[in-house]
Amino acid sequence: MGKWTEDVEELVHQGRIKVPYTWSVGETGSKFFLELRDHKKIWGTRCPLCRKVLVPARKICGKCFRQVEEWVEVGSEGTVQTFTVVRYPSEVHPLKPPFGYAVILLDGADTGMTHLLSGSDPGKWRSGMRVRAVFKEKREGNILDIIYFKPVE
Ligand SMILES: [Zn+2]
Repeated sequence: MGKWTEDVEELVHQGRIKVPYTWSVGETGSKFFLELRDHKKIWGTRCPLCRKVLVPARKICGKCFRQVEEWVEVGSEGTVQTFTVVRYPSEVHPLKPPFGYAVILLDGADTGMTHLLSGSDPGKWRSGMRVRAVFKEKREGNILDIIYFKPVE
């Protein structure tokens, strides 16, 4: 008995499923998001073994697999490590194009944080440019309390 696709043309359907869900962000995530919401502060955690400051804060170092308990406040400014520009609209995008998805190394952090770029001409964006977090006025305790990172002129 052969593979069924030898006898039948395999058709592929592309679709999108919306699945509402709720989950706990845990002890570390709760502290991280409460600091964002209540104080507009970004915190990381420092691994006791490799000493790297992980941002967003994590409970376990992904490199050493050690529990991480030391909290370290990092800057709301940082450096873009890499980015891509989104130029097409979609209901799943958090911002109206054009905007960017970027990995940003915040001042004092050792790991890049993925977030959004906006607030200036994408044609002028470069890896290595300095950016600053733009916070929502009414924050809710999630990563989009930072609306985006804006290039520092
Ligand atoms: Zn580590």
